[in-house]
Amino acid sequence: MKQSPDMKKLEEVLRSGRIVHEGFLGNDPRSLVEIIESDLATVERLGLTCESIAKRMLELTEAARPRYGAWTEPQEHIRVRCEDVKGSIVCPWPHAGRFVKRITTVHRLDLDKSIQWTDLNTHMIAEHGFFEGKGSFFRLEPDLLAEIIFLR
Ligand SMILES: [Zn+2]
Repeated sequence: MKQSPDMKKLEEVLRSGRIVHEGFLGNDPRSLVEIIESDLATVERLGLTCESIAKRMLELTEAARPRYGAWTEPQEHIRVRCEDVKGSIVCPWPHAGRFVKRITTVHRLDLDKSIQWTDLNTHMIAEHGFFEGKGSFFRLEPDLLAEIIFLR
């Protein structure tokens, strides 16, 4: 992927505190294109796609929704909870998209590992292949995310 002028502008928005106070790129020195390409390589190495990861994230969020704020165990070894943080957030990409600030937490009981994401994370992975920059608050490491959400 080439660093187009649009990507450069988008990268500035992501690095700034315009949408979320701490920005989406954390202290990652890499360009947006480099971050996306590197994560995509990890996803491919795992034999997955961004779409399949996002689909599974959505499935887990949906499983937790009927028991808002409480833990539920939709499958053996997987405990999930979702909570609302007041308000909504827009996708930083240039298209109309507003998301409820909902946080899903998944705890893998057999691995004793947990991970959290927002509805915006799920969208950005599905539509933009973006897992955020290293050091950002909601950075998701694709390999850790996959290890936790998929029972293998
Ligand atoms: Zn978007």
